[in-house]
Amino acid sequence: MAKVGFVGLGIMGEPMCRNLLAKGHDVTVYNRTPAKMGSLIAAGASAAASLADLVHRSEVTITMVSDPVAVRDVVTAKGGLLGALSPGKTYIDMTTVSPEASREIARMIGDTGAGYLEAPVLGSRKPATEGTLVILTGGDAGLSAGMEPVLLSMGSRVIHMGDTGMASHMKLIINQIMGTILCVFAEGALAGMEAGLSAEKILDVLQSSVVACPAIRLKGPDMLGERVFTPNFPLKHAHKDMRLAVEAGTAVGIPAPVTSAACDLFGMARDKGFGDRDISAVVRALTDR
Ligand code: NAP
Repeated sequence: MAKVGFVGLGIMGEPMCRNLLAKGHDVTVYNRTPAKMGSLIAAGASAAASLADLVHRSEVTITMVSDPVAVRDVVTAKGGLLGALSPGKTYIDMTTVSPEASREIARMIGDTGAGYLEAPVLGSRKPATEGTLVILTGGDAGLSAGMEPVLLSMGSRVIHMGDTGMASHMKLIINQIMGTILCVFAEGALAGMEAGLSAEKILDVLQSSVVACPAIRLKGPDMLGERVFTPNFPLKHAHKDMRLAVEAGTAVGIPAPVTSAACDLFGMARDKGFGDRDISAVVRALTDR
């Protein structure tokens, strides 16, 4: 069992921490908004007084924050991770970030002598709660293997993707495809409903067709039905991932016109006030109903 420090107790981080505790790890938590630490402290976690305090108490420090800007804040802030990490300690970033941001963080952490692993996850609130996330790792293969007892406390599978940046790139491919699928699904299905098809028939036939897919099975009923948009994967993070996917493609010389158009739809839904609702609220970019 390891001494684990965990930063970022949002939709994903909170249940991931609970699973670390359940597996017997000695967990210290830190969150920018301290009130969110309460339920985990009640469940047996210790509260760190600061980011540096968290690193000092931990063998392995994990971040699960919003985006590359948040990771840089946590790493480079005065009293942040960078000043406290040292040889023998490991830092794992599980946030979805760009490959370039991950490589930049790796360089900074490398200077401290600590180990660094990127480890973005596949799966949303439910797999995070059930401990069945699929965890992609990038960086040193030996370090990835060594961290499996910690990572498999939160997930069911660890897949080492290669050097730093490769896990981030793979994660973005998944979200790039999911976001684009939901946009084209919304466009087609809304037009079908306007023309007189029922939502039930559209969903039924789609799932019996060659374009049947889990993303539509999961999100389609709410997108065409009640439109509650309970936030499991916040739309603002989906928008961020679409933007990062376009950047990652551009960085290697592959244009992403379809992803760019879908990214614009996420931006429109965000501008309409749906950033904190679920990714499925992208349908609101096309209709106010
Ligand atoms: P979330 O609920 O929005 O939580 C974000 C966390 O980041 C909060 O604890 C927040 O602190 C913290 N944070 C944000 N900016 C910060 C800053 N500048 N400094 C310090 N802490 C900061 O997000 P989430 O859904 O858990 O997602 C976390 C990451 O996992 C994102 O990169 C997301 O893309 C990725 N992801 C999400 C899902 C999903 O389905 N939700 C699935 C796979 C991957 P406060 O509490 O103070 O705001």
